[in-house]
Amino acid sequence: MIIVMSKDAAPEQVAAVVTKIEYSELKTHLVYGEDNIVIGVIGQTERLNPEQIEAWPGVQRAARVKHPFKLASRDFHPATTVVNVGGVKVGTGKPVVIAGPCSVENRNQILESAREAKKAGAHMLRGGAFKPRSSPYSFQGLEGEGLKLLAEAREATGLPVVSEVMDPVNLHTIAQHVDVLQVGARNMQNFHLLKELGKVDKPVLLKRGMAATIEEWLMSAEYILAGGNSNVILCERGIRTFETYTRNTLDLNAIPVVKELSHLPVLVDPSHGIGVARHVKPMAKAALAAGADGLIIEMHPHPEEAISDGKQSLTPAMLMELMNELAGMFPSAMVSETV
Ligand code: PEP
Ligand code: MN
Repeated sequence: MIIVMSKDAAPEQVAAVVTKIEYSELKTHLVYGEDNIVIGVIGQTERLNPEQIEAWPGVQRAARVKHPFKLASRDFHPATTVVNVGGVKVGTGKPVVIAGPCSVENRNQILESAREAKKAGAHMLRGGAFKPRSSPYSFQGLEGEGLKLLAEAREATGLPVVSEVMDPVNLHTIAQHVDVLQVGARNMQNFHLLKELGKVDKPVLLKRGMAATIEEWLMSAEYILAGGNSNVILCERGIRTFETYTRNTLDLNAIPVVKELSHLPVLVDPSHGIGVARHVKPMAKAALAAGADGLIIEMHPHPEEAISDGKQSLTPAMLMELMNELAGMFPSAMVSETV
């Protein structure tokens, strides 16, 4: 349930509402909007009567939230959340671009990637150090060494870094080295991991599971928010369909739908979405045209030598071309807001 306090509600009236609600063993979550305070109520709210609550002093409106996700819902938090990643703001309406290789492979490769990403105008660097691979015989990532290299690349370029966390065991080590913790599609419903991410003071990039509905995806975000971490960025990366000419089917429908349902910023990963480098550019443009808050794109200095996902990785020149075209299409937009 949400309780919208009137514009001129006194702090004592807000406190009185919170006390009454918590007395019924329900949890409250205060959202400070531009005009007024919204009190989110979580728990078994069936026993509350919104009409009665509307008669309490200072209350303007009380209504049930019709979705199973509460903290992730726009009803709870009408303004889009802006996630600040080391000064790069995601969710302001100005698209943010994250670029870099699928995996961190060696020092030269990640440093060169970082320099090329920066040169093209990207705002953050991506690179997997712990890789979820379909085969146990495939390269699993440089792990701890990869994290150090990512930190070095950040030092060298000033770009914040994004990297995947696969399980709670490595979470704290990864969190020490990176600026955004990526949850991969395969782990979207690893509830144990999501709960741990709720306790961490680092933004989380939550990718959509390859067979997850929008509701399941938002419920996964809810786990992180409910744990106390409000810095969640969603990422549409394609879902699995019957189509075989493309790696996945990029669900552009999800962008306006999620943006209506939720206040969380939404990025799009056209690289995994389509899986073919030469088709990434149109899908990247389409994602921004559909209202995405930014993109995460795989770029490798030498895609033909990439250990993972070379087929879908842009060359630095392709990234530069994409960024230039995006700047032409969204003139005021392509400079991300920084603090
Ligand atoms: C990745 O970003 O390299 C990755 C493995 O993505 P996803 O989890 O979306 O497959
Ligand atoms: Mn990849």
